[in-house]
Amino acid sequence: MKLRLRHIAKQFRTLRGSVAAVRDISLDIGDGEFFVFLGPSGCGKSTLLNLVAGLEKPSAGKILFDEKAVADGQTNVFLPPRDRNVAMVFQSYALYPHLKVFDNIAFPLRVVKESRKAIQNAVETTARMLDIENLLQSKPAELSGGQRQRVAIARALIRRPRLFLLDEPLSNLDAQLRTRMRLELKNLQRKLEITTLYVTHDQTEAMTLGDRIALLRNGSLIQVGSPQEMYDQPQSPFAATFIMNLIPADIKKAKDRWIAVLFENRLRLPLKNMHWPQKPGSDRILLGIRPEDIVLETKDSEHALLTHVSAIEPLGREVLLHLNTDGTDLTALSKKSHYKTGQQVYISFEPDHIHLFRKEGSHRNNGNSNFK
Ligand code: ADP
Ligand code: MG
Repeated sequence: MKLRLRHIAKQFRTLRGSVAAVRDISLDIGDGEFFVFLGPSGCGKSTLLNLVAGLEKPSAGKILFDEKAVADGQTNVFLPPRDRNVAMVFQSYALYPHLKVFDNIAFPLRVVKESRKAIQNAVETTARMLDIENLLQSKPAELSGGQRQRVAIARALIRRPRLFLLDEPLSNLDAQLRTRMRLELKNLQRKLEITTLYVTHDQTEAMTLGDRIALLRNGSLIQVGSPQEMYDQPQSPFAATFIMNLIPADIKKAKDRWIAVLFENRLRLPLKNMHWPQKPGSDRILLGIRPEDIVLETKDSEHALLTHVSAIEPLGREVLLHLNTDGTDLTALSKKSHYKTGQQVYISFEPDHIHLFRKEGSHRNNGNSNFK
């Protein structure tokens, strides 16, 4: 099923006035596409999903499932959730605690009065798909978080919805399990070919799951593209924060070359191919470096900076190191796992992999420079 959003907006009236949760969003999502909404907390992700599900009514705009309008203020069309054939999965699982797993999964079919036989078949097939056949007689309280989420997904998929909506479904799981469930979800979605909208604030999740990603901020679309496009061409510092470290820096000319001065002059980096558009020394900019382009050393060197490991996050074959240097947080990716919290680490940046952003205004590439 194709999904089209046309100038969708949603305002909530509150005691403090009106809140614009979604502002003028237009998007075309293709049949069978895995589409991710990425953005920080409060940017309107859940509201957008609820609008598509029919749990909220848009303040303006139009939503079409294939050629059919399911919400359109101008023609006074508004289909309730039960008439949209969409399925939704939430972070909180939302299972019925008093029902066995079997009955939780069967619930949507019982509501539409399917036959016993058809229900039995459908529950078994769906449970097999999610590898939970042996849990059908358990109650939700007896299951782990990962198992509960599988049950919630099975319940969502049992009616073979036209649209599959997931709102931060993996956020309550630990890192290891999250990575595994991510892979399984992706495979399942490919197999079923259901058009899917997936909401997350986690860029790794967005990059690994999405055929395309829409980056949201304050209810507005900031950038839409494939993971590769988002990665290669973040069009603003905001887009870049989801994939790289951003550090305030000064650009200066030293003798005949450009350097970036960072961390209160504790790090001076030579820059390549710089075509600085303004007067030398006139600007503070943001320097972007991806976690995988931070070079980790145990010893000091000319262009190295001392940091401390503040946390370590295992990502399967790699570890994400959270580093701190005098109050500035950075993340680095390493294939080695011998790091310890509190440990001192020297870092340097690969000059070829540095991105430069203006702090405000447009962020277009400037000729062949690495300035955005
Ligand atoms: P996200 O899912 O990205 O964290 P939400 O869609 O939940 O964001 O919220 C977007 C904005 O709309 C927030 O400012 C939130 O406080 C506000 N909001 C969401 N739901 C309601 C509501 N029912 N009433 C009033 N304000 C709401
Ligand atoms: Mg939300």
